[in-house]
Amino acid sequence: MAFENLTSRIQTAMKNLSGKGKVSESDLDDTLRQIRLALLEADVNLQTARNFIRKVRQEALGSKVLEGLNPSEQVIKIVNEQLTEMMGQEAVPLNKSAKIPTVIMMAGLQGAGKTTTVAKLANRLKENEHARPLLIAADVYRPAAIEQLKTLGDQLQIEVFDKGTDIDPRQIVKDGLKKADQDKNDYVFIDTAGRLQIDQTLMQELKDLEQIAKPDEILLTVDAMTGQNATETADGFNKSLGITGVVLTKLDGDTRGGAALSIREVTGKPIKFVGEGEKVSDIDVFYPDRMASRILG
Ligand code: GDP
Repeated sequence: MAFENLTSRIQTAMKNLSGKGKVSESDLDDTLRQIRLALLEADVNLQTARNFIRKVRQEALGSKVLEGLNPSEQVIKIVNEQLTEMMGQEAVPLNKSAKIPTVIMMAGLQGAGKTTTVAKLANRLKENEHARPLLIAADVYRPAAIEQLKTLGDQLQIEVFDKGTDIDPRQIVKDGLKKADQDKNDYVFIDTAGRLQIDQTLMQELKDLEQIAKPDEILLTVDAMTGQNATETADGFNKSLGITGVVLTKLDGDTRGGAALSIREVTGKPIKFVGEGEKVSDIDVFYPDRMASRILG
């Protein structure tokens, strides 16, 4: 279960307040210091943790909760609200085009879960909206990626457009989009190539594909288990490419929670979905308020 440590650390920090008859400003600061350490250990971005503590402190002192009834409960409420705000407040749905198809371009480092996420999202749309998505296999650098997408497509009965690996991904995307127009697909997913790390060639290719496909959504998949690196990757992709949303994968294996907490604050872009397992159904909308409650335990 994600956030185990963070949850118990925050609960311990809060006990420090609830055990007291009267809560002073310095009691509050002790608690906030413990929460700040817990956030950093959870691999939350440093600036994000600082901003969070500053806001909780301001709220708590400004609304004079320390002088009122049940100060510790009030502080928990403030912590909950600020956690929710830090993660973006509201769930943000996929962008949708006014006319079909809605084009969703995927991006992400190798192994982050891009191909798996394409299948999960396309299947979700098929089940929820009876959508007819087309998946374009444009990851020509990893032959196994195309096979993986085709296998998933077969299983889910979702069409996959591929032209093998001996052709430029720009051409594949052009041809794939033409086919989607002819077949009147309502969604197109473009599975692009990943790399071990962000590099110039990758970014140029993604920018070219963006020019060609004019996507309604550029979704970045990042691996929650990589903690701070996930946040830095999201920041890097956002600065060079400009993303519209994030899918945070492997939350099921993430015991710390730092990426979930930092990405929105650092990039300004919403986490739209979370991956919570390898199965195609293991995907969910990212709800900041539910995530905050989960963190507080
Ligand atoms: P890509 O290189 O970004 O396309 O990554 P893949 O889609 O091939 O995924 C890499 C590995 O991560 C595969 O073994 C997936 O089954 C696994 N994976 C993807 N998403 C999740 C997730 O949400 N939870 C878990 N536990 N594994 C995942």
